[in-house]
Amino acid sequence: MKKFVSIMLFMSVFFTMFTAVGHAAEVVPKLYLNGLLLKSEVAPQIVNNSTIVPMRTISDGLGYQISWDNTAKTATVINGKDVIKLKLNDNKALVNDQSVLMDTPIMVVKGKTLVPLRFVGEQFGLNVEWKNTEKEVHMYEKPAVSIPEESSGTITDFSFDGANSVTIRYEGTVKTNKPMYLENPKRIVFDFPATNYSSSLSSLFLNGQVEVSVTDSTYLTGYRYSLYSKSPDIARVVFLIGDDTGYTLTENLGEFRLDFMSLSELPGDGDTSVKPPVITDPVTPPANTGILNVVIDPGHGGSDPGAKSILNRWEKEFTLSVGLKMKTLLEKESKIKVHLTRTGDTYPTLEERVQFANALKADLFLSIHANSAAATVSGTETYYYRDNSSALAGIIHKHLISATKIKDRGVKTAAYKVIKDTTMPAVLIEAGFLTNTSDATMLYNDASQTKIATALVAGIKEFLKVN
Ligand SMILES: [Zn+2]
Repeated sequence: MKKFVSIMLFMSVFFTMFTAVGHAAEVVPKLYLNGLLLKSEVAPQIVNNSTIVPMRTISDGLGYQISWDNTAKTATVINGKDVIKLKLNDNKALVNDQSVLMDTPIMVVKGKTLVPLRFVGEQFGLNVEWKNTEKEVHMYEKPAVSIPEESSGTITDFSFDGANSVTIRYEGTVKTNKPMYLENPKRIVFDFPATNYSSSLSSLFLNGQVEVSVTDSTYLTGYRYSLYSKSPDIARVVFLIGDDTGYTLTENLGEFRLDFMSLSELPGDGDTSVKPPVITDPVTPPANTGILNVVIDPGHGGSDPGAKSILNRWEKEFTLSVGLKMKTLLEKESKIKVHLTRTGDTYPTLEERVQFANALKADLFLSIHANSAAATVSGTETYYYRDNSSALAGIIHKHLISATKIKDRGVKTAAYKVIKDTTMPAVLIEAGFLTNTSDATMLYNDASQTKIATALVAGIKEFLKVN
């Protein structure tokens, strides 16, 4: 932690100790830090029952970094990642960008700028005890958290699409807290508990954060991210927005995507959007909103290419292409919220895909695959495993074969992990055989993929009774 030099330190803990300011001002108590007597070359002052000290006391005594901006009349105090901004004669401080009221502001007394010491010390986590008989202030550093909570997820990437969307990618498990909508300037704050940043992102940090200015967006003027808290780790991401700005948040496995838009463009009364200052929780779908969560799982990906087709293309390419087409179609549905287990060439494990769908309490899960066998084998199959999925399998299969127009190999059961260990109605399709020239040619044809995606979406809507 900080180094504590034995100069001086003083806290304004005297609300109950001094009945009269005039009297209190004459008392110069002794100051102790962690049991050691501190000395100061400048006596502290007591104003409005608060102790105020020269800035030097903050830096030399406490080891905090402090600077003074004479134009803005603002002092900035930094302790590690935490930043306090104090403005002259203003009793609202900014603590890590959050407005916090304090009893006594920074003030100029006899030409000296004096800082409220208790406020600063307490914001940075000191414990303070007043011994009235002895007229002594005892301050202690709080013991370090002995069992630091391990991060369960790592943010690996931010990408801005050049217009109005930002995608945050992560590894492991990352959940967002309820976002905060704040004014002056207008911003939306997301905190991700038990989350840190990848080393490549951390290496970009300047003064504990990365700031990105956005100039070509109608709704977003910039964003920044930092590690708001360490042990337990909390990653914080702040989006600076315009006056007429709402957003939707889409969670796919491994990423959060924020689309900013005019408030008037926000979809319906869905649970995915925020109209300031109404705040909803985009991660845990609230009950009874009428929004149905659908998870689309493009099979394989990344290090797992799946089956190799007779056309020398991989199964993972087909599954992602159809998955993304379904995503586009389902995003037009006001009563459905679509989530993908992957949107790029990545490999979430089967367990991660299952947990993702279960954590969302999704209403439907559909895994996209294509088959392989001897070159003569052709046809479309749909699989389910649990009883609660058989009706879905029947409906999906009916629509799917109408799109592929190849041999109907029927609805089957198999204990595939993603349809076995999920809890909601879940099916896995094998759209055709990549090892068959005719099937493979159809499966990699863009128009055919669109037909398949459209048919699958029609099946989903029929099952969910969405018109
Ligand atoms: Zn497969």
